[in-house]
Amino acid sequence: MAAYKEISKEKVYMGSADYDSDLWLELSKVCEENNIACGEVTAIGALRSARFGYYGQDERKYSFIEKSGHFEIVSLNGNISLKDGKPFVHAHIIFSDENGNCLGGHLAEGCKVFACEFTIHAYDSKDFDRAYDEQTGLTLWKR
Ligand code: ZN
Repeated sequence: MAAYKEISKEKVYMGSADYDSDLWLELSKVCEENNIACGEVTAIGALRSARFGYYGQDERKYSFIEKSGHFEIVSLNGNISLKDGKPFVHAHIIFSDENGNCLGGHLAEGCKVFACEFTIHAYDSKDFDRAYDEQTGLTLWKR
C-alpha cells in the first residue's frame, strides 16, 4: 500500500536562474539558503545545453545523456526532501529542440541555463528523508 502523510503548504518562492548557471545547482542553492526540507519545484524556460539521467532498472545504475544545442524547457517537475540531512532536489525535465521534438529524464547537474523561471512550494514537514532502498537500488523516502 502507498505510504503518505498530510502536510501543509508554508511558503512559495518564485524566481529566475542566472544565465549560464547550472540549473540543478541553482535550484539546490535556493532550497539550501531557505532550509526547505520538503517541497515541490516546477520551472519553464530554455537551456543552452542539457544533461539528464536514465535509471537502468536491471543494472541499478544511472546513465547520463548530454545534448548540446538550444532547447525549450517544456516542463520541469520535482520534489524537495532531505538527503543526508540536507535539502535535496529531485526533478525530472522535458525539453524540446527546434523541431519540437522532446527528450527528457532525471534532471542532472550539467544543464546550462539560457533563461529559467521557477516556482518552489515549501511544505512544513521534515519527515521526507531519503535512504537507500534495497528493492530498487535508489535513495528513496523512508517508509
Ligand atoms: Zn529521478
